[in-house]
Formats: sequence, C-alpha cells, structure tokens
Amino acid sequence: MSVTVTAKACRGCLACLAACGSGVFEARISRNHKVAVVAAHPENCVYCLVCLPLCPFAALTMALSGPGPVRGKARKG
Ligand code: SF4
Ligand code: SF4
Repeated sequence: MSVTVTAKACRGCLACLAACGSGVFEARISRNHKVAVVAAHPENCVYCLVCLPLCPFAALTMALSGPGPVRGKARKG
C-alpha cells in the first residue's frame, strides 16, 4: 500500500501537505512556476487516510486492499 499523487490532477493547493502529520508530501515548483505536491516519502505513511478526502481534485490515490485503488476517499474492505 502506498499513497500516490496524480501529477496531472494536482493543483498545488497544499491541503494534503498541511494535513499530513507524517511528512509524506513535499511541494515542488515546476519550470513554469506551478506548484504541485509529490509523495516524496511514502514510507512514512501511517495510512490514517486523513489526506484523501481533503483533495478537491481527487489527485490522491491509495490502494488499501483488494484489486482496485481508492480515489479521494477511504473505502472499507
Ligand atoms: S494517509 Fe495519513 S500519513 Fe498517509 S499520506 Fe495521508 S495524511 Fe499522510
Ligand atoms: S490536496 Fe490534492 S490538489 Fe491539493 S496539493 Fe494535495 S494532491 Fe494537490
């Protein structure tokens, strides 16, 4: 399991970075001066799932269990 950021979907609002208490995310500035977040330290993730519902653009994904990923919200199972 690991959290990932879909680069094309991320708008750089930094909500996930601010909410994560484990230091998983880092902000990056591209050559065209756009801010985006990357999951730079996925090994730090404690799977609290706080970040997933915070992303307004469903850019965060985490596979919890089973065959499919979870986008934007936690899923039991
Ligand atoms: S699930 Fe929790 S620990 Fe993992 S990246 Fe999101 S906020 Fe951070
Ligand atoms: S909450 Fe979503 S849009 Fe905002 S920085 Fe994180 S991944 Fe990007």
